[in-house]
Amino acid sequence: MAFVTFVFGFAAPASAEVVKKPYAVVTFTFDDAPRSVYTQAYPLLKAVGLPATIYLSTGFVEVYGYIKWTDIKELEANGWEIGAHTHTHADLTKLAPGDMVTEIAKSQQLFSEHGYRPVSFSAPYGEYGERELTELKRVYSSNRAAWGNGGINNYHNRDAYNLVSLGVTLETTLDEVQKQIKAIKKDGGWLILQFHQIDNGQNEPMAFSKESIFTTKIFPEILKIILKEEVPVRTVRDIIENP
Ligand SMILES: [Zn+2]
Repeated sequence: MAFVTFVFGFAAPASAEVVKKPYAVVTFTFDDAPRSVYTQAYPLLKAVGLPATIYLSTGFVEVYGYIKWTDIKELEANGWEIGAHTHTHADLTKLAPGDMVTEIAKSQQLFSEHGYRPVSFSAPYGEYGERELTELKRVYSSNRAAWGNGGINNYHNRDAYNLVSLGVTLETTLDEVQKQIKAIKKDGGWLILQFHQIDNGQNEPMAFSKESIFTTKIFPEILKIILKEEVPVRTVRDIIENP
């Protein structure tokens, strides 16, 4: 996707740098993923034609309260990006080197058996170091961290293997999210929002309790703000591959 560039047309020296218009973009990311991502968040996004990136731990797929392979197929058919989050949701930094490689290989193998080849990764618990990054760079084109800089990345000069994100938990207020959306609209930036379980008041099997820190109740309101502010929404892969 192209963005508009402006050049100062008056008395510009030959060496004048191209001044890029502040570009604001949001990515919705969902980790793990509880089935409510499919039953609650997906219909709202689908209704307005917006995609998201979902980071799946393959060992959780089909587990009670979690997403199913048939759901994943539908998400992908509707523009969602299927990303990876290890096989057992292990803290990679605590594993022996061979086990760390196996976590990633097993995940890729299961995805491959279902017809997927994820290129985007998020490290469970946000835990990774140089050893993990060396391996991740062999397999994926990006790695999303679990925190950092209020979730705002430099769009034009992003660090693909340390993408920061804003975790939206039970304790996150709408004001906190709105503030970040206003900030990127003003100065430009790539805001990555990170969700786990979505609770829109429906009674359904849940991976976490409704009062878990990993439960978000303000997803519909966040979506409304983004639509009102007219900030584009894209997947991680789209932004990495089409800057
Ligand atoms: Zn996770």
